Amino acid sequence: MQNKVIIGNQKMNVTAGQTRKFLNVFVPAVEHINYQIGICVPYTSLAVCKRALKDTNVIFGAQNVSEFERGAYTGEVSSEMLADIGCKMTLVGHSERRKYFSEQNSQINNKIKQNLRYNIVSVLCIGESKRERTAGQTQNILCKQLDECLSGLYENELDNIIIAYEPIWAIGTGQTATAKQIEEAVDYIRKEISRLYNDKASKNIIVLYGGSVKPDNVKSFMGIKNLNGFLVGGVSLDAKAFSELIQVYAGKSNKK
Ligand code: PEP
Repeated sequence: MQNKVIIGNQKMNVTAGQTRKFLNVFVPAVEHINYQIGICVPYTSLAVCKRALKDTNVIFGAQNVSEFERGAYTGEVSSEMLADIGCKMTLVGHSERRKYFSEQNSQINNKIKQNLRYNIVSVLCIGESKRERTAGQTQNILCKQLDECLSGLYENELDNIIIAYEPIWAIGTGQTATAKQIEEAVDYIRKEISRLYNDKASKNIIVLYGGSVKPDNVKSFMGIKNLNGFLVGGVSLDAKAFSELIQVYAGKSNKK
């Protein structure tokens, strides 16, 4: 994975046909971008991505994965199945999965371990709620999430992990974290990786920010030290807006 990255998360918002139409516009608009672009789609859109993204600079992924290898787990989709269809990454631990499906850090840790067996990059989402931030608990929350989700992983396995700092209160709300809040969180995440592993691992790990990033606010985050890019929800549903955001980040747009 390159160290400058933008990943879209389309959530449960698109059919396979809509994904095809989206990619018809999106792929040509970003074909000259020379950093890593990815899109996480519903399972039912993966086959369309496999065909449409062959020989392009856009990788695709799922939004979730089973914590189990295989067997009697009705409704689950395994890392092996995702690798087989060409998935290069999955989100794990998105706050919506934690909130609506009660996903725990120990399960997220299992998911990461399954992905590692099949060479799939895990985009590990972590972040605090508004109440936790107000109570001064942000660092404690990030620390617990990192410790438990990365438990038992070796340093070399971090090459297949991306960390997305996504404060829950900024997701889909239009309320972004400030550049200072993001920088503090990113610094803390890197400090914690250094404590758990070492300085080299801390320097090398890819850290993204997610939470209401748009074409017209992305510039305000571009100066953040040690941030490698963005995880983008709502805007990634609109091929034009998402490619505009990607171009602004590449420095190729006139957007102020
Ligand atoms: C997300 O869901 O990961 C996200 C960042 O959403 P949004 O960009 O809509 O806030």
